[in-house]
Amino acid sequence: MSYHSHILNSSSHSHIIGRTDPITGDSVKENDRVVFCTVCKSCFLEDSWVYMNERHCEQNQTLDTIPALASRLVSKKIKDELITELKHGGVVLQAVLVTLVVSFLVSLSALQQTVYQGDTEAIGAFSILISACLGFIVGVITANDSFDELMGLTKNNVRLFTNRIEIGKESFVWSDIEQIKYQREMYVSESTKVKQNFSHIPFLLIYFNNDSVLKKNLATKSHSKTEKLLMGLEKISYFKNVSFYSENPQELKVMHNIKRNSKGKIEVGKPKKLLNY
Ligand SMILES: [Zn+2]
Repeated sequence: MSYHSHILNSSSHSHIIGRTDPITGDSVKENDRVVFCTVCKSCFLEDSWVYMNERHCEQNQTLDTIPALASRLVSKKIKDELITELKHGGVVLQAVLVTLVVSFLVSLSALQQTVYQGDTEAIGAFSILISACLGFIVGVITANDSFDELMGLTKNNVRLFTNRIEIGKESFVWSDIEQIKYQREMYVSESTKVKQNFSHIPFLLIYFNNDSVLKKNLATKSHSKTEKLLMGLEKISYFKNVSFYSENPQELKVMHNIKRNSKGKIEVGKPKKLLNY
């Protein structure tokens, strides 16, 4: 255990009790054991800290004392709070999918061998078991962030904070950014007999104050996930120019709804085309 943890009591930590753990969403209660990130001063339940591999804000330092009420009030203005997060599908799901594919392939070849060489059924069953384990291991390894880093793949998870936006391993402060744009383009595929509409990977365009522009593809096309990102960007639109563009009719409708219900600076672009998906 290389971090500082603290047990909360109601007499001196009432300013901490009731805060929300950023990972579980649970309220922090009396007698809970908590850990504070040195950089952002966020309060985590100990389990959450361990779950994050004892890291936050790209570092592993924790506060050795519970922040006092006064310092919390002073730092409130610059407190960096997580607004929303867009993530790649879960590690477990990916492991299960890879397991299914690998075990299917291996058992197919096991079946072939059984047929050609007259092996016993036991060998077939045994290979299925082995391949399932193998598949699961491969799945876990490939779903691991450091594996992706090793392979040069970045998943581009997006996290919106009050002070900055985090994309993959990079972080950009809002004060350097002039405008942010969310964009989804659609295309028609005629490879099959039936014309089908597909979505390209949605992306973010970040326009910096120094006139440079950064394009970042998102980790997912999932509408339920990107909708959460749009709602998060709505919160950003109170202090930054936010722009939406979508060639998907449902998503465009969502965008217009968000704009209608917001007092922020949101622009919804007129799509060149509209395709269902
Ligand atoms: Zn932190």
